[in-house]
Amino acid sequence: MHPAADSAGEGMEERVAPLPAAAVLTVWGASGSAPAAGACRCRWGGETVCFELRAEGAAPDAPSLMIDMGSGARDAGRAMTARCEAAGVAPRAVALLSHLHLDHVWGAPFFDPFYRAGSDIELRCGLYDDPEAFEADMRRLIAPPFFPIEPLTFGGARFSTFPVGAVFEAAGFRVTALPLHHPGGCMGFRIAGAGWSIAVIGDHEHGDPTADSNALALAEGADLVIFDGAYDDAEYPAHEGWGHSTWQRGLAFAAEAGAGQVLIHHHLPERTDAQLDAMATKVRETTNSADLAKQGVRWRLGKGGAAEL
Ligand SMILES: [Zn+2]
Ligand SMILES: [Zn+2]
Repeated sequence: MHPAADSAGEGMEERVAPLPAAAVLTVWGASGSAPAAGACRCRWGGETVCFELRAEGAAPDAPSLMIDMGSGARDAGRAMTARCEAAGVAPRAVALLSHLHLDHVWGAPFFDPFYRAGSDIELRCGLYDDPEAFEADMRRLIAPPFFPIEPLTFGGARFSTFPVGAVFEAAGFRVTALPLHHPGGCMGFRIAGAGWSIAVIGDHEHGDPTADSNALALAEGADLVIFDGAYDDAEYPAHEGWGHSTWQRGLAFAAEAGAGQVLIHHHLPERTDAQLDAMATKVRETTNSADLAKQGVRWRLGKGGAAEL
């Protein structure tokens, strides 16, 4: 059985709580490279990669599972603090960092829960063997002279790693992590609840047999696949080796994986709303189970599959 399989839970510690029967995924940022502000991106949004997964109906003090902390993590953190303050509880989250390229950690210095007393934010990255090396790199980024203060020293931040191919529990979900093909490395994730799963495949350039097979294993039969389609097929040859794929590849990949729904993400910052509209039209015309990931949109995962809320 491949480590991505959801059924057996092999390699996991004994669970104390059942996996969530349903969850809600919020797209806080779906762009790549650099945040894109301005009127030309007011509808699709220009924040960089950040997703949040919460069990449906979870109590305010139940932890969120964050996937990457691009600039979208700023809004995610403010919403988390507001929700927790209203309930009189401290923010809790586990953040899986696929890798530490800036577009995946831009938002960490502005993640409000780092500044809240009693918060518990666990940062996890599988590209390191040593959690202290991971912590040192994060503290290097979020410290003078690159940032005026050191929020990670305020308490509430913990750092951990996980081995390649590990199946582990994070924020109540079952996570499988495998390496993708990207300069410096990047981890892909499969995240499962009870009877449903999603796969986050980004950043990833197709063409490396091992990484392609990892991506496929993570996405096999998933209800929702988020795929790195930064380019289209016509643009790709000029960007070969840059570590990203195309939306056409994403659709073919999702079909091969037998995925229920695919969302193309890592939108280039130079694309305008009109250009993303045009790309979305082509994506939707190719298959009715594909779309571009849109900032602010939420998806429900459960026994019926993935449905946009
Ligand atoms: Zn990226
Ligand atoms: Zn990257």
